[in-house]
Amino acid sequence: MFGGSTDKFDFSDIEGRKKMGRNDEDGGCRMSGASGFLMVLLAIAIAVGVGLIVHFAGNQKELNCNCQCGPAEGVVTMAPEFLTETCKAKAVLGNQELCGLCPERTTTPSQPSMSTTMGMRTASTMPNTTMPPTSSPHPITDTRLPTSVKPLHYELNLRPEMYNNKPETFTFNGTVAIKVECKSSTDNITLHIATQNLTTTPTVEASDNTEVSPVVLYTTRDVTRQFLILTLDKPLVVGNRYVVRLAFEDRLSNTVLLGMYISTYIDEAANVTKYIAATQFAPTYARHTFPCFDEPAFKATFDITLERQPHIISLSNMPLANSITLGDGYVADHFDVSVTMSTYLVAFIFGELDSVKNVTENNVLFGVYTTHKNINQTAFALNLGSRLLDTYEEYFNISFVLPKLDNVGLPDFVFGAMENWGLMTYREMFILNMEGVTTTHGMEFTAEILAHEISHSWFGNLVSPAWWDDVWLNEGFATFLSYLGVDLVVPSWGMMDLVNLYIIQPVMDVDSVESIVPIFREAYTPDQIIGLFDIITYYKGCAVVRMLWFFLGPETFRKGLERYLNEKAYGNGAHDDLWAALQTQAVKDGKDDIDIKSIMDSWILQTNYPVVTVRKVNGGLYLHQSRFLLQSNKNTDFAGFSWTIPFTYTTDEELNFNQSANNVVWMAPNTQVYATDASISKMNGWVIGNIQHYGYYRVNYEQENWNALITQLKTDYTKIHVVNRGTLISDVWALFKAGQADLVTAWDMLTYLQYETEFIPWQYASSELVYPNNMLIRRPAYGNFERFVLSLLEGRSLNVSLNDNRPTQQRSLSKLIFSLSCRYGVPECATRAKQLFNDWKNSGTLIPPDVKESVFCRAIKEGGEEEWNYMYDVYLNGPAVEQAGALGSLGCTSRPWIISRYLDYILDPSKIRKQDSAQAFLSLLRNTNAFYQTFEYILAKWKFIVVNYQLDVIMLNEIVSTAAAGMYTDYDIKKIENWRDEIHPDGAANVGGFDVALNRISVNMEWHDKYYDRVANWLENYVRSEP
Ligand SMILES: [Zn+2]
Repeated sequence: MFGGSTDKFDFSDIEGRKKMGRNDEDGGCRMSGASGFLMVLLAIAIAVGVGLIVHFAGNQKELNCNCQCGPAEGVVTMAPEFLTETCKAKAVLGNQELCGLCPERTTTPSQPSMSTTMGMRTASTMPNTTMPPTSSPHPITDTRLPTSVKPLHYELNLRPEMYNNKPETFTFNGTVAIKVECKSSTDNITLHIATQNLTTTPTVEASDNTEVSPVVLYTTRDVTRQFLILTLDKPLVVGNRYVVRLAFEDRLSNTVLLGMYISTYIDEAANVTKYIAATQFAPTYARHTFPCFDEPAFKATFDITLERQPHIISLSNMPLANSITLGDGYVADHFDVSVTMSTYLVAFIFGELDSVKNVTENNVLFGVYTTHKNINQTAFALNLGSRLLDTYEEYFNISFVLPKLDNVGLPDFVFGAMENWGLMTYREMFILNMEGVTTTHGMEFTAEILAHEISHSWFGNLVSPAWWDDVWLNEGFATFLSYLGVDLVVPSWGMMDLVNLYIIQPVMDVDSVESIVPIFREAYTPDQIIGLFDIITYYKGCAVVRMLWFFLGPETFRKGLERYLNEKAYGNGAHDDLWAALQTQAVKDGKDDIDIKSIMDSWILQTNYPVVTVRKVNGGLYLHQSRFLLQSNKNTDFAGFSWTIPFTYTTDEELNFNQSANNVVWMAPNTQVYATDASISKMNGWVIGNIQHYGYYRVNYEQENWNALITQLKTDYTKIHVVNRGTLISDVWALFKAGQADLVTAWDMLTYLQYETEFIPWQYASSELVYPNNMLIRRPAYGNFERFVLSLLEGRSLNVSLNDNRPTQQRSLSKLIFSLSCRYGVPECATRAKQLFNDWKNSGTLIPPDVKESVFCRAIKEGGEEEWNYMYDVYLNGPAVEQAGALGSLGCTSRPWIISRYLDYILDPSKIRKQDSAQAFLSLLRNTNAFYQTFEYILAKWKFIVVNYQLDVIMLNEIVSTAAAGMYTDYDIKKIENWRDEIHPDGAANVGGFDVALNRISVNMEWHDKYYDRVANWLENYVRSEP
């Protein structure tokens, strides 16, 4: 599955919110905006009735989040700990971000209960081998199916009834015949089922004619474990085969996007609402559609027939074998029998979809499907996707085993994408490439998401985890392999450098608090299993896999994966199996001194990561490791954490940034290491550790070395690799926040940016500046802060063009520079923005998508009523793809009377659509010029907003916490408390955002106490020393 990457989702997060918001109208929770990995968390949260607010401002890492817990909608529940911990972790980061208030657990699994649905006995009289305690305070761990029977083959027939235009009444029904083999003596067959009704009495039939078929005495449901237990009149014979027949029906959900569900879209040409039935079975939702052995290790073949009305099509994992028109006018599509695979990879889709297709070099039919109006935006996904498929076949040296691979964009999709074998599904906007809309970053993202899913065909589909606790083998690997794959197809994008910025740095931020979880962790219930799909699994998983790739060497790593995939093909593996395969390969390649399991266990079983402190002496380096945490207390355990670290370094003399496994200095746990190096002098030059940041650790140095590095950057930064220039910034700022590096060093490091011409270091720096910006913006030091940033931006070109053929990272840099220049008032930006805006307004000239957001905002800020009215008209009547951007820019105005008029518009549904009102308030709150006016207005109208306007609680939370983002005084605390206690209407929903806001203000106050004067001094000195 795919969640996305931090700091992405340019236009798409807005779209994502719109789409996702619909899901929970009756569940009471929704996503209000998202980016990056949190998209996954949010999506899950929505699905299960747990809300989470996240706001990302452009490419900055600013984040407000708050978990708001509501009732679970029917089918699933989850523990929100991971959401909360991720939030908390973010909160510590330079206090940029704030965390919410999820309780330890919002919903417990359904009360343990049993019921006999078709049978003759009550639960109390039935065999209790798998009987749960009736009310246990302990978490359930015996959730696994018995292994006494093994499924071999499913014959599944399914028909959705979705044609009456009343989605709340849609249903589906079907039959399944599961051939099983008895592996050990048992008198029951236990499989998974969720909420389906059984429409006939289940039967079990002996395949062997010599055996009299067993009789199903009674059927029992263990609701807690989602078990369906068929108790038989006699034991099954070990080695014999049986066919279990079940018929079932259920409602087709249009609110929870799991199992088989309904996705809705408007066919604009015909002006009608249309429906697609689609599936999301990973990790534990196949059982919500058909009774099955729903664990990844119970692999079987699937023979699928889908019944549909003639005007739509159906798709499944395998190619269509034949279609038969049935007596009632429906068409039965019968698909080829699948390869052996897990239930979570089964998929079906019913709907009106268009497609484009390619045949790959290896004769695989590669298709992209979308709704009709978007099909002309799929060329990029089609071409790149089929090249990626070729590339992975070559990389793994194993053919893609199916004859076709379809990639389907769906209007509503809970995750970013899903790797169903042969029928991959995506949120539609993620595979579209729209001229004039898709940014450079959006294009990279589409490539990454396609690569991620396609790589799963090997890592995940061909070989699946033995159990979900090793799901990081799917997701950590797919994340890494997606960067590797795109890099192989389009090396000029530099994805293997960008992986640091997009994946590794964000997770290092999150992974530096005590409460975070390790990569490998136990999971038993569906709640716990879905909780595994988090940033640690995906991003830290990717980071440690990349480290492994580095220290084994790319070819040993590749051959080891090939060995593992061949050994376990159509089966399952645990991480120890992978380590064993890689170890065999390493020995074969003469690398027998590496103990892969012991090295990797130190990274996947422990939380957090180390900081390596480097001390120079004449003739060598002392290396010391310790657990890196942003905050600790007297009870923090440092001694109990230690890693096996592949340390690398170079010096100003050597300048070797192209290192391999041979250059690694291994640091064993709990030992200080001395690395002999005659070229090192205590007094002169510099050393830099963690070359290209291949290792998952930070590096700290003595002050002289930091100073020497800063001097090097300022005199000739090109001597240091671009990735290390970025991670130097990231390391020194993280160390500063943790109290392990000096404030002056952190700020001094940024001054070299005036010379920097690469995107990666700029983006690292820009992220670090978000919080100081918010803290200083209403303080006297802001003038100097602005001068400081402007000095870094001086002389930058703001030339952008629609058909920009420069390397992608140069385009991304231009986008960032343009945005910073507009934000910090570079005069040329206003001129340029105005010109681009006017050309667009007067002659329809497209604005380069990378700068469109900045152009819109600046044009509205600089402009008057005419510009504002024009943009407002675009919001109301413009093309759908422009409306979100138009709405976002309306709040950029700096004219008080326009702000005032806009505020009135926001609470008039005939002027601003109700679902956009919160976003409109938020954009004004983020505009310093509009802040106080908006804040006062919201306070004055709060009762109306809460009681009459009925913004959902998630949006209310976001408004409150955004309002508090820049506050830092006791008076501000009183204002928020007054808002909560006096203004917020009695009996209205409890808005957790008030507590988030108060927490945020205290954190901000602490920053001001600790750092304001020192930062102000540093800025003053900087500005004075600059000519
Ligand atoms: Zn995945």
